[in-house]
Amino acid sequence: MNTLTASFLKLLLLLLFFVPPLAKAADALRVSDLPAGSLGVYAAQLVEGDAALGLNEALAQIQAGRFAPVAMPVPDFGIGSRPVWLHLALDNDTGAVQQRMLQAGVTWLDRLDVYVVHADGSRHAVHTGDELPDAPGLTPGMGYVLPLQLPPGRSELLLLVASVDPMALPVELLTPADFAASRLQFGYFYGFFFGFLIALGAYNLLLFIGTRERSYLYYALALLSILFCNVAYTGHGAGWLWPQSTDFQRYVILVSMVVYNVFGLLFASRFLMLAQFLPRTQRVVCWGMGIAGGGMLLAVVMGSQLLAGLLAFVSMSAFSAGMFALGVVSVWRQRPSAHYFLFATFFGMLGVGLTALAVWGKIPFGLLTFHAAEIGLVIEATLLALALAHWMRQHREARYLAEQVARQDALTQLNNRRAFLESAHPLLDAAARHDRPLSLVMMDIDHFKSINDRYGHKTGDEALVAVANLLKRMSRSSDVVARWGGEEFILLLPESDAQQAANHAERLRRAVSEMRIQAGDSVLTMTSSFGIATRAPEITLEALIDAADVLLYEAKRRGRNQVCSVPLP
Ligand code: GH3
Ligand code: MG
Ligand code: MG
Repeated sequence: MNTLTASFLKLLLLLLFFVPPLAKAADALRVSDLPAGSLGVYAAQLVEGDAALGLNEALAQIQAGRFAPVAMPVPDFGIGSRPVWLHLALDNDTGAVQQRMLQAGVTWLDRLDVYVVHADGSRHAVHTGDELPDAPGLTPGMGYVLPLQLPPGRSELLLLVASVDPMALPVELLTPADFAASRLQFGYFYGFFFGFLIALGAYNLLLFIGTRERSYLYYALALLSILFCNVAYTGHGAGWLWPQSTDFQRYVILVSMVVYNVFGLLFASRFLMLAQFLPRTQRVVCWGMGIAGGGMLLAVVMGSQLLAGLLAFVSMSAFSAGMFALGVVSVWRQRPSAHYFLFATFFGMLGVGLTALAVWGKIPFGLLTFHAAEIGLVIEATLLALALAHWMRQHREARYLAEQVARQDALTQLNNRRAFLESAHPLLDAAARHDRPLSLVMMDIDHFKSINDRYGHKTGDEALVAVANLLKRMSRSSDVVARWGGEEFILLLPESDAQQAANHAERLRRAVSEMRIQAGDSVLTMTSSFGIATRAPEITLEALIDAADVLLYEAKRRGRNQVCSVPLP
């Protein structure tokens, strides 16, 4: 790791884990001078035992000194915690009634009861949480936001929180103006974030429709499922889309996490071609998808929100680490585009990992740690889109190369028979259309079998390569030169009449006979025979080839090492 990366990581860790100095929880917060950010360090907490407490009992526990300082900005109790009471003392020192917006919790809290007890004994209570249809104060992207009227003097703020899902409880008190400004900022943030995912998802869906390449489909579905998951867990779903459907809300976040994991893995196995190159890893991935998907189905059918929650978070953590591991293995195995994949998944994993740990209560819960998943996802999605583009380019190049190879003779690198026919047909058609001369030369090395016999097959190969190179060197760029088979070559000469073709063949014949090939201690020489046919009106390529072949045979019959261009009478 270079020093720049190291110092960047240090800075990142500092930012993530910065915790302000502790304050004494018993002191009442002055309303005229409320600190910014989450107020956990000014609060005290009590985790309920077996018996549920009422407000009066909770107040009695505060009197008895049973509440303990929270000691962190965002109180965090992890998955499956018992209900928790939180207490904040407020002192309205302004001499007038003040309105403050209480912004508390994450939007998926099952139950949030807010009590304000004033010095004169009057009380105010609000009950909310996503177990309630149309949950009061549910503010997408922010949590539960409830207005508090604070008369002059001291008030006790008590929150009772219960949740099977991870229980994180950021608590802020904002002026109405600050709340409005903050809400606007979150609105822009989510507008950008959702817009980005929708656009990228839709674009990749279109690419799939256009190219039928399944990588695009899986990538688009992964993007759209994580989009849906985000819509759900930020409270946009419960706040706007399904405010009445509390049963749906109970599982939708957890299920969509697993759905995202499955599509992400489908994408990865296709992109990295696991089935082909890492079949055992592919089997592990399949098992992982099956266990996560099946387990989640079971949890929903059993109605166990706790099991679903644990499964979703284990699946998400395993997914992030697994994607990264797939990237590492693929880079190690030098799979194409694997670097992009590794780099992308690193950011995705970092983001999801930080958010999961923060929500789970393993690292401090802050604005940056809570939103790390979204930031990481934007970086990851961008890099994966680049990876996919790179991948497609590699595939196109590989296909081009394969086509090239399919048209080439492996030994001599000349055109093979198929490539010759593909090139020759249009040239003959053009010559016929414009009534231009065109000739075809068939060439065969004389007594090649005896060369093989005397010098060995390997030297025979070398001789064939040498002849091929000579043909290439001595031909015009407009000529089509090919290996017709064995020790037989074919040349199509556009703009050449019979005489010009015969002259060219004669030059070739002489050049072949003058070639000297070193074969061990001795020197190998060769001769070759040629048959030439010239275009006549209406003649087909096949007829032209047959005519040249007949003349080649004639050249052999007349004693070899010669060019034959006119049939004997
Ligand atoms: P002719 O003068 O009548 O053409 O006699 P020839 O021996 O050249 O013709 P024939 O068709 O009887 O034999 C061709 C030989 O070419 C037989 C085969 O082993 C050899 N041959 C064909 N392809 C290759 C090759 O790729 N490498 C080598 N070394 N030999 C080849
Ligand atoms: Mg031969
Ligand atoms: Mg032959």
